[in-house]
Amino acid sequence: MTAPTVFKVRASSWGALFDCAYAWEWTHILGKGKAAGVRALLGTALHASTAVNDSALVQGESIKPSESAAVLVDTLNHPEFDVDYTADDLSVRDAERIGLSLHAMYCAQVAPRMHYTDVETALDPMDIDCGGGIVVTLTGRMDRARVSKTAAGLVIPDLKSGRAVISQGYVKTKGRSAQLGAYQLLYDHTKGVRTSGAQVVGLSTTTKPAIAVSPVFDARRVMVGGDGTPGLIEYAADMFRSGLFPPNPQSNLCSRKYCARWDYCHFHE
Ligand code: SF4
Repeated sequence: MTAPTVFKVRASSWGALFDCAYAWEWTHILGKGKAAGVRALLGTALHASTAVNDSALVQGESIKPSESAAVLVDTLNHPEFDVDYTADDLSVRDAERIGLSLHAMYCAQVAPRMHYTDVETALDPMDIDCGGGIVVTLTGRMDRARVSKTAAGLVIPDLKSGRAVISQGYVKTKGRSAQLGAYQLLYDHTKGVRTSGAQVVGLSTTTKPAIAVSPVFDARRVMVGGDGTPGLIEYAADMFRSGLFPPNPQSNLCSRKYCARWDYCHFHE
């Protein structure tokens, strides 16, 4: 019997697969990424600093926001990945100012309401048999998401930063179910539980920083489908089986600035 072809897919990249699969293939299968901009670096720094705060809360330790904020400054100034400092209209100094403000708001307004039980949990890989000798192994660490206990059960809140994550005071959840559904599936698989849903904590990195938290929604259903409607896993299986990753020139990220495949893609013309 021929051994299956195994594709490892990080849960955090699952959302991008359904934005422009052609771009996703370039980065995650063919290994041709693009250096991140300062806005992405700010997102990483916010996740790191808030994770230190939340981990201390889970351990029952007291920590001042100013102590965990040092992690934000350090991450911004000593990134562990390539950064293109010309990619965004944001300097590291401005990113630090916005980031420190968001970090303080998060620690004061969001973290105390969350009842986190897990932060930065390592997740066990999960195999999805796509048929035709193709297996997709979902992997991941919830370095961007946490787990909180609510009246409705366990929920996975994911921090999202950016200029457009909040609109008129509400967090946008559209298009988030692919990544959050992958986290729900992997967490359930790892811990032998069934999470009740996911939610988005939006950190707006505009010049007027703001924070908002979305209602809980069932991201798993979008991944696995139900009532005769296929889920995203089924569509992904088709892509992996056929090797055809369709382009999406209408993606918000379809530009030279954001897409690593731009110079090698004729679909945007
Ligand atoms: S240029 Fe546009 S269509 Fe082409 S891979 Fe990038 S995002 Fe997709």
